[in-house]
Amino acid sequence: HQGTRTYNFNAGPSALPLTVLEKAQQELIDFRGSGMSVMELSHRSATYEEVHNQAIANLRKLMSISDEYEVLFVQGGGSTQFAMVPMNFLTPEKKAAYIMTGAWSEKAFSEAKLFGQVYQAASSKDSNYRYIPSLDEVKFEASDAYVHLTSNNTIFGTQWREFPNTGDVPLIADMSSDILSKPIAVNKFALIYAGAQKNLGPSGVTVVIIRKDMLELANKNIPTMLQYGIHAKNNSLYNTPPTFGIYLLGEVLNWVEETGGLDALTKRNEEKAKLIYDAIDQSNGFYYGHADVNSRSLMNLTFRVKDEELEKKFLAEAKKEGFVGLNGHRSVGGCRASAYNAVPYEACKALSQFMVSFQQANS
Ligand code: PLP
Repeated sequence: HQGTRTYNFNAGPSALPLTVLEKAQQELIDFRGSGMSVMELSHRSATYEEVHNQAIANLRKLMSISDEYEVLFVQGGGSTQFAMVPMNFLTPEKKAAYIMTGAWSEKAFSEAKLFGQVYQAASSKDSNYRYIPSLDEVKFEASDAYVHLTSNNTIFGTQWREFPNTGDVPLIADMSSDILSKPIAVNKFALIYAGAQKNLGPSGVTVVIIRKDMLELANKNIPTMLQYGIHAKNNSLYNTPPTFGIYLLGEVLNWVEETGGLDALTKRNEEKAKLIYDAIDQSNGFYYGHADVNSRSLMNLTFRVKDEELEKKFLAEAKKEGFVGLNGHRSVGGCRASAYNAVPYEACKALSQFMVSFQQANS
């Protein structure tokens, strides 16, 4: 533990920076002299609009998003994006190609099936999604409506290192669990979406980064709230946005800036993951990873303990020591440590030390 704060390795919603929570607490009752909380402000007020626009500007800056793209805040989580993407871009004449790297790709694929023709451009399902397919394994057609991928597989603990080049075919990515964890070449993508609740803020806000030419392509005969163009035209203020979540997201982005920006963050994330992967790799098989080494995620670190009884004991003792959220997803079993941006280095250090001492005590 660190004071009253636990070591939070939850897969999502997950840890937020302590300084952000403290600032939000301080500003909760009287936001910048308005005499009300930010969540009580009109979303049409100048005070709120500044919060809103600042959050967009900060994300643009941190992710180096050019003017060719719109940054949107929508609701409904990553799961609504699974439907919104095909509703907007899948036309009767075209197919959409989905790269299958885990349970979230499967959900995106099933949702798209409801709206048109879809097929699998590559899949690592045969190995229970232990790896990211190589770039030559990815097959799609130049006539496809888009290619969809999941940049980080929250459940299986794999992450793309290098993205396919899809030329004129729009590349669409679900970056829910690794957005802003490292620099990304945004201009490789036609659309990026992410629920905020892992790296960016609380649940309830979903970020969409969309290339402007896609807005012209998009289907206009769908419900208003599901049209990207409506949100773009209205600066994500078509209806009442999740104002408090957007405020917190903005504060998380300020925290990223204040702690050294994206480069420093990337370095911290690499160091944090290394602590835990080293504990696995140096254990002589006492711990073993689910993901192939070359596909390992820096965000969700999945591993097993060599036998099931020991694994139960490991999880029980870890819980007693104050480590929260280490149980793996039921489809993989075992253990998963999610080390998102706001998980402190000290928490990962403590976990790696615990892993080493548990092994010593049980070998
Ligand atoms: N995509 C990925 C990669 C996820 O990890 C999750 C949730 O954990 C989702 C989509 C679903 O997001 P939401 O719960 O915001 O609908």
